[in-house]
Amino acid sequence: MAPQREWFETDYYKVLGISSEATEKEVTRAYRKLAKQYHPDAHPGSEDRFKEISAAYDVLGDAAKRKEYDEVRRLGPAAGGLGGFGQGGGFGGFRVEDLSDLFGGIFRQGGSKRRTYPGAQAQRGADLEAELHLSFGEAVEGVVTSVNVTSTATCATCGGSGSRPGSSPVVCPRCGGRGVVDDNQGLFSLSSPCPECGGRGTKVVDPCPTCHGTGLQRQQRRVKVRIPAGVDDGQRIRVKGRGEPGRNGGPAGDLYVVVHVEPHAIFGRRGKDLTINVPITFPEATLGATITVPSLDNPVSLKVPPGTRSGRTFRVRGRGLHSGNQQGDLLVTVEVSVPSSLDDAERKAVEALAAATKGSPRAHLGA
Ligand SMILES: [Zn+2]
Ligand SMILES: [Zn+2]
Repeated sequence: MAPQREWFETDYYKVLGISSEATEKEVTRAYRKLAKQYHPDAHPGSEDRFKEISAAYDVLGDAAKRKEYDEVRRLGPAAGGLGGFGQGGGFGGFRVEDLSDLFGGIFRQGGSKRRTYPGAQAQRGADLEAELHLSFGEAVEGVVTSVNVTSTATCATCGGSGSRPGSSPVVCPRCGGRGVVDDNQGLFSLSSPCPECGGRGTKVVDPCPTCHGTGLQRQQRRVKVRIPAGVDDGQRIRVKGRGEPGRNGGPAGDLYVVVHVEPHAIFGRRGKDLTINVPITFPEATLGATITVPSLDNPVSLKVPPGTRSGRTFRVRGRGLHSGNQQGDLLVTVEVSVPSSLDDAERKAVEALAAATKGSPRAHLGA
């Protein structure tokens, strides 16, 4: 890749917020942090900033490109090197893409390689998002299912050429097939993608009836997704490479599946732990008891010690959700149930208890 005008104008180190002495690791770390912060999926409107960050990393993240970039910045017009040509007036302008010829050996890869232009460059497909509704049990156990994804894909009728099958695109008359047009701006003659053909260098004359010449079509696909055991409501599962297909041989984007988990009739969840509220009687709370509590598989026996207050939570180890190699617990919260009606025998017993009760539980309140 030959140096671009952008290299003179943009301080990629500044874009990534690092020093020009940053190590490879520091470059990558800075990039990841910013890319996350400005990813357009999560932060609409941040596309430009995201592109800038990606462009900076594209160069600084590649040792060979970074070396070239540093050389260009050192020798570039801003540093006075190239500016000399301009001030001397001897140069009527030269093509930025040909700078590599001027610098000769500095750009080891420059010059010999044919430049590609944005329109024809391999482009990574966009990331897509799909929603998935799961029952509580499916979320607990994990499930293999599929989601519907609508995205732009290569047109099946024309195979992406945009031309009616049987006809071929012609060489673009505006750019003569180069895919770029030159725009003379004094010292630099800039190349930009040809507006007529969008940088492809060819033009569709007999458009494909399916895609009307775009080579793309909206397509619905079913994508198989494997949901791991123990997913939680609102979690995003990444399915690598199943987003929008790439353009011009670029890699596909990723698919993010947002999981919605239906609540369970009796169980709740706190991360990997399963929660349940279990009523107990006043005698069970007071005298202690062994009670049976449902879990996801077999019921468990729980010993309620004498003098248990309402609202106390007991942890039954290992009876929660499996997630990866971790195992959650079952959290049992007991609630002392107060009967709303009593038969004669019960009433007599409670009255006897009242008569025998010494002191007041509110004594410490001064009441
Ligand atoms: Zn088509
Ligand atoms: Zn053209």
